[in-house]
Amino acid sequence: MRLVFLGAPGAGKGTVAELLHERLKVVHLSSGDLLREAVRRRSLIGQQAARCMQEGALVPDALVTDLMLQHLNDLGEEQSFTLDGFPRTGEQAQALDQALAQRCQAPIDLAVDFEVSSETVVSRLAGRRVCGSCGANYHLVTLPPRVAGRCDRCGSELQTRADDRPETILKRLQVYQEQTAPLLAFYRAQGKLRTTTGETGIEQQYQVLLELLRRERLVG
Ligand code: AMP
Repeated sequence: MRLVFLGAPGAGKGTVAELLHERLKVVHLSSGDLLREAVRRRSLIGQQAARCMQEGALVPDALVTDLMLQHLNDLGEEQSFTLDGFPRTGEQAQALDQALAQRCQAPIDLAVDFEVSSETVVSRLAGRRVCGSCGANYHLVTLPPRVAGRCDRCGSELQTRADDRPETILKRLQVYQEQTAPLLAFYRAQGKLRTTTGETGIEQQYQVLLELLRRERLVG
C-alpha cells in the first residue's frame, strides 16, 4: 500500500498516518518531520530549509525531493508507506512518479485528500505542541501529554512550532491553496484521488480512512 496524504496543514494527516503506522505497520514518512529533524541537527539541508520553514513558505523542490527519495530508497520494496506533506507541488509529484518508475517500483496507489475548513485548521494549529528534542507531536485539547508541558516519550519540554503562530498559519494556508491544492487535479487525472474528512476527531478520521482503504482493497 503506497499512499500520499494531501490536505491543508492541520488537517490531521500526520496523526492519522501515525495510527496507520502503529496499527498496520505502514511506514509514515513526513517531509515536515524530516525537515524539522534536519533543522534540529543543523545539517546542511536543515540550514538551507530553516528560513523558509519559519516563514511558512515551501522549501525548494530539489531539497525536499532529495530528502524524501533518500528515505524512500531505504524502504524495502514490499514495505507499505504513507507520504505525509510530500509531494506539495506538481514538480515534486512528477519527480516522485519518475523515481518510482526508474527503480521499477510500484507506483502510488492512492492520494487521499483530507478536507477541512480554514476555521478548523486555525484552531487546531494554535493548540499544537511539539517536543523540542524528539519531535513528538501533541495537542492541548485532542492529544495532551500525560504531564502538562512535557513529552511522554523523552520528558523534554514541549514547544509551540514557530510556524504555528497565527500570522504564519494564515501564510501556510495561502501557500497550500496556491501551490499544493493544484496537485488534486494531478492525482484526479491519474484516477487516484480519493477524499476523506479532516473535520472529525482523530479516531473517527482513522476509521473513515480504513473503510475507504477496505473499499479499495488495500487492506483486508
Ligand atoms: P508540515 O509539518 O508538513 O506542515 O511542514 C512544515 C514546513 O516544512 C512547511 O511549511 C514547509 O516550509 C516545509 N515543508 C514540508 N514539506 C514540504 C514539501 N513537500 N515541500 C516544500 N516544503 C515543505
